[in-house]
Formats: sequence, C-alpha cells, structure tokens
Amino acid sequence: MTTVAVVGGGCAGVLAARELLRGTDDRVVLIEPDEPGGGLAYGSAQPWHLLNSRAGAMSADPDDPGHFARWAGCSPDEFRPRLEYGRYLRSVFEEAAAAHADRLTVRPARAAGLTAEGVRLADGQEVRADRVVVATGNPAPAQPAARPDHPDYVADPWAKGVLEAIPSDVPVLLVGAGLTAIDVALTLTERDRDAPITAVSRRGQLPLTHTAVAAPPVGPALNDCTTLRDVVRAVRAEAARAGDWRAVVDGLRPYLDELWTAFTPDEQDAFLRHLARPWECHRHRMAPSVGARVARLREEGRLEVRAGGIRSMTAPPAGGLLVELEAGVQWFGAVVNCAGPGRLPAAAGSFVRSLLDEGQARVGPHALGLDIDAAGRLIGADGRVRPDRWLIGPLRRGARWETTAVPEIRAQARRLAIPVG
Ligand SMILES: Cc1cc2nc3c(=O)[nH]c(=O)nc-3n(C[C@H](O)[C@H](O)[C@H](O)COP(=O)(O)OP(=O)(O)OC[C@H]3O[C@@H](n4cnc5c(N)ncnc54)[C@H](O)[C@@H]3O)c2cc1C
Repeated sequence: MTTVAVVGGGCAGVLAARELLRGTDDRVVLIEPDEPGGGLAYGSAQPWHLLNSRAGAMSADPDDPGHFARWAGCSPDEFRPRLEYGRYLRSVFEEAAAAHADRLTVRPARAAGLTAEGVRLADGQEVRADRVVVATGNPAPAQPAARPDHPDYVADPWAKGVLEAIPSDVPVLLVGAGLTAIDVALTLTERDRDAPITAVSRRGQLPLTHTAVAAPPVGPALNDCTTLRDVVRAVRAEAARAGDWRAVVDGLRPYLDELWTAFTPDEQDAFLRHLARPWECHRHRMAPSVGARVARLREEGRLEVRAGGIRSMTAPPAGGLLVELEAGVQWFGAVVNCAGPGRLPAAAGSFVRSLLDEGQARVGPHALGLDIDAAGRLIGADGRVRPDRWLIGPLRRGARWETTAVPEIRAQARRLAIPVG
C-alpha cells in the first residue's frame, strides 16, 4: 500500500488528506503541529472576520459547489464568518477521517525536512512515505526596509495576542492597506479605541467591495490577445460594456493561470510591478458589511488611508516609534506590519528553507513560491522534477497565479488523488 505524507494540516492539507482518503486506497499521514483544519486564515480569525468569498464559492468538494452553504444553512450569496469556515473544514476532515480511520494517521509534529524515505520531523523521527505533499501555507509576511527591532513594531499581525496588547489610546500605523490591514483595523476598533489608525501603502488603495448579490461572471474575449497589453485592453473594454466590472473580474478567473503562464517573464514582471496591486483590490474584495464598516470608520476619522512610503522608523526614549512618512514625521504608539507574503528565500519557514538548502526544491518564478512542473511536483535545485514530491496552495504562486483561494486549492487537492498520466 502506498503511503502519502501530507506536511501541513491547514486548509490545503486537510483538503488534500480528504481527497486522498476518499479517492485512493493510500495510507495518509498528516503532519501538523496544531489542530488540523486551522491554519492562518481560518484558525485564528475573530468573530468579526468574514470570508471575502460568498458561501457558494467555498465548498470543500469540487463536485458539489453548494456543500458549504448547505452545511452552514445559508444562502450561497452570504459572506460567513471565517471561524465558522474553520469549523466546516474540521468537520469535513473529521468525516473523512472517521470513514477511513484504518488508513489515516495524524502526527502532531513539525516537519523539519525531506529525506529519501519520507519526512524528517523536528524531534528527529522520520515518517516513511512513498509520496509527500507539501502544504505548509504562505511564506512569512514581507517586512518594510525600515523595519525596526522594537517591541512597538508588530512584525507579524497574525501572532497570537499581539493586537490585543496594543493600548487603545495610542495612534497606530498599519503598513499596508490590503485585506490584512482591514482585518487588523476591525480587530483594533472592535473594543473602545480613542486614538486613530492610519494605513499607509504605496497607492493608498483599499480592497474594493462585493455587491450584495453577485453579477453573473462574464468571460472577456481574449482570443486575439497575445500580450499583457492586449489582455489589459480587452478586460477594460469588457468591463466598460458589462456595467459591473466585478462580472468581468470574476469571469477572468478560470483563465488566469493560462494567461499568467503564457506571459513572458518580462510581462509577468511588469504585471507584478504595475498591475498586481490594483488587480488584487478588484479581485479579493471585502464582504459588503465589512466594506460598510470600513467606510464608517473612515467617515468618523477613526481610520485614515494614505498613499506613500515609509522613509524611516526610529525609537524615541519615551516609547512608540517616530515614522517618517511622505507628509512628515509622526509618532505612533504601535506600528503593525500588514504586508502580504514576502519573497523567498528570505520569507521561507524552516521547513521550506531546509528544502531549498538541501536542493530538494528551488525558488520559483519571481521568488513568490517554489518551482513546480505542470502537474504540481517540486523541481529540485538540479532542475529535475521530484516525481513523488508535490506542492499545493500558496507556495505555487509565481509558477501559477491563482493558487491561494479555496476553489483552486480544492481542485489541486483533487488532482493529487488522480494518477499522473
Ligand atoms: C486572512 C485570510 C483570509 C482569507 N479568506 C479567504 C476567503 O474568504 N476565501 C478564499 O477562497 N480564500 C481565502 N483565503 C485564502 C486561502 O483560503 C488560504 O490561503 C488557505 O488557507 C491556504 O491554506 P494552506 O493550508 O496552504 O495554508 P494554512 O491554512 O496557513 O495552513 C498551513 C499549515 O501548515 C502548517 N505547517 C507549517 N509549517 C509546518 C511544518 N514545518 N510542519 C508541519 N506543519 C506545518 C501550519 O501549522 C498550518 O496549519 C484567505 C487567506 C487569508 C490569509
């Protein structure tokens, strides 16, 4: 019997384990130090953090798009709490685990690296496996160049208890204005807060908002497009015609990986420098109620969003940080890094770093993730595909574009259970 080790039991890992248990006769070993089904997005969310996708998009099962909405007893158009979605992931995993208990082992451990025979654990033990699926999630957050080593600088807003420790009477600076900054602003303003929050990002652009009811997706005509410029022109024209640009952004989604891999490296680079951020604002939108809450915070002067960079951060003796922004130097009692995932190898966790150090994997295009072949198998430092070493989830970014959200992750998980032709 084949044994598959799945490293990481967040969203991608539990969906992979579930597909392997249901779709193959393989023995599955899930290696995860925390409770399976947690992970960054759904494990540590607060009750006020909502999914940024409708319930109808969040099923664990590619064949049954309505599964999550039925489980939650809600309309497919609703935006449900992320905590609830974490419960859903655990429930679908537990169901598969109970049905195939004879073939599943959960190892509450941290993986330290890969060996010829399987996975090396941090405690020195080894999990023997014929195939390994790497599902360790996002790289660590990117850090601003001016990052200080100071207790009032929060390098990782997801670390337990860091936001709760910020006093409510000091102004707070958020570095970044994306969905992470929105999450942080909601948490900081959930309790009484007398002092304002400022979010600063290069463009000062917040994520846009979903409509209450989704417009049916419209696929733009891309047949005559051969360059990034052609695609941008076609998408803009279609958005103007469609009336609601959201329909076009959503209609583009199934083609994004194909487009991304067809672009030249220079076009990909140009997209990352000039278009990625505006694209993300349109693509990863806030739930309507979150958008309304953020608008209120801005109207009340409790949240300010500014465009520009951070020139320096220095620590005055009295505490807090003096931050040099475009408009001048300002004092903040806390600075919270809300940047997205950083680039490899600097942002690699210890497991991914060991894969890179040992040549089991190599950094992928634009250093956004690891390099993979068309099927999703790791490519080593020698340029050769590792036939039994698979990668799913956010670390496919760069080799692919659309690889962080549930619809793509569940499809990747399903393909793990299908033999490669
Ligand atoms: C805040 C936020 C909100 C999101 N909202 C949505 C949404 O509304 N809709 C949507 O479709 N997508 C959403 N996403 C995107 C997507 O669902 C996540 O990126 C997804 O959770 C990725 O799953 P993952 O398993 O790869 O990573 P994670 O869920 O982060 O899990 C990684 C797991 O790997 C484990 N791990 C790490 N290193 C090791 C090691 N060395 N050994 C063993 N285990 C290890 C960790 O403990 C963790 O459990 C959101 C993402 C974020 C961050």
